[in-house]
Amino acid sequence: MQGLLDALPRPALLIESSGRLGMANEAARRMFGESIVGRHYITALRQPGLLDAIERSMRENAACEARYLTTEAQKDITMIAHCAPVHPSGGILVVFEDHTALEEAGQMRRDFVANVSHELKTPLTALMGFVETLQGAARDDPATRDRFLGIMQKEAQRMNRLVGDLLSLSRVEANERVRPTTPVDLAAIARNVVGSLEEMAREAEITVRTEALDTPCMVPGDADQLLQVITNLVENAIKYSGRGKSVTLSLARHEGHVLMRGDAVILTVADTGEGIDPIHIPRLTERFYRIDSHRSRELGGTGLGLAIVKHIINRHRGRLKIESAPGQGSRFSVILPVSQ
Ligand code: ADP
Repeated sequence: MQGLLDALPRPALLIESSGRLGMANEAARRMFGESIVGRHYITALRQPGLLDAIERSMRENAACEARYLTTEAQKDITMIAHCAPVHPSGGILVVFEDHTALEEAGQMRRDFVANVSHELKTPLTALMGFVETLQGAARDDPATRDRFLGIMQKEAQRMNRLVGDLLSLSRVEANERVRPTTPVDLAAIARNVVGSLEEMAREAEITVRTEALDTPCMVPGDADQLLQVITNLVENAIKYSGRGKSVTLSLARHEGHVLMRGDAVILTVADTGEGIDPIHIPRLTERFYRIDSHRSRELGGTGLGLAIVKHIINRHRGRLKIESAPGQGSRFSVILPVSQ
C-alpha cells in the first residue's frame, strides 16, 4: 500500500478506521510535515471542510470532495481533496489535486468578460442615447443632427477598433505555439510602418526618425504580425508623447544575445514623451491595463495594443523590454532570435 501511495503523482493520505493517519506519501508529507503519520486526522488536517468530507465519507461509505486551501512560498494554493472509502479495511484514502491554475484561469476569464462587456457598454450606451435624441428632440435640427452623427460615428469606430483588437488577440493566442519559420525582412516592415503612420505623426506634430532601416534584416517571422507589433509601438509613442516630441525607430543586430541563446535582432521604439512610472511597467502588457484610462480612450486606445504585442513576440520566441522613467521618455525594445 505504501508503494502504491508513493507512486501516485499527487499528495495522498490513508486514514485508518480508528481515525489515525496510517500512511502518507512523500508529496503529502511535504505538504503536512514529516510527523503527520500516526496522528489523528482531526488534529492533523484541521480544516473544517475537509474534516466534514472525511467524516461523511466514513459515515456514508461513499466518495466525497472538499476544497483545501493552503499556501506555498507565499502563494495561495487551492486543492480539491478527494476522499474515498477503502474496502475492506474501512479506512479512507484522501488524494489532493491542485486546482490553483484552473481557478486562476476561471477568474481571468470572468475578469476578461467583465472588462470586454464594460468596454463595449460605454460606446453602446452613448449610441443608444443619441439614436433616441435623433428620433425625438433633435429630429428637425440639422446642425445638432450632424454633430450627434459625428459623435455616433466616433463611438461606432471605437467599438469597431475594440472588436478588431479582440479578434487579433484571439487569433494570435490561437497560434501562439506555432513558431513562424518564413524569413521576413524586418527593416522593410519597419519602413512600411513609418510610411503608413506619417500622416498620424504629422497631425500629432511628432518627428519620426529612423536608424539602420536601409539594409535588409532577416528574421524568421510572420510579416503581418510583426507589422502589427511595430505599428502598435510606434502608434503608442506618437499618441502618448505629446506635441513637438520625437520618436526614433531603430534596428540593431546583436551577436550572441544571452536571452536568445544566439544572434538576435533588436528593434527599438524610443520616444521623448513624458515617460512611465516604474510601478506601471510590469503590468502594461496585461489586457485592458492603462495608466490613464480616460486619456487612452480619448486617443482611441483599446487597452489591448501591448497585450497583442506581447503575444506576438512570445509566438516568435522573442522578448519585449520596456525601459522608462517619468520625464525621460520611454523605450520599447523587441528582441527577436535570428536563427530558427
Ligand atoms: P492603449 O490602447 O490604451 O494605448 P496599450 O496596451 O497599447 O493600450 O498601452 C497600454 C498603456 O500603456 C496605455 O494606455 C498607456 O498608458 C501606456 N503606454 C503605452 N505606450 C506608451 C508610451 N510610449 N509612453 C507612455 N505611455 C505609454
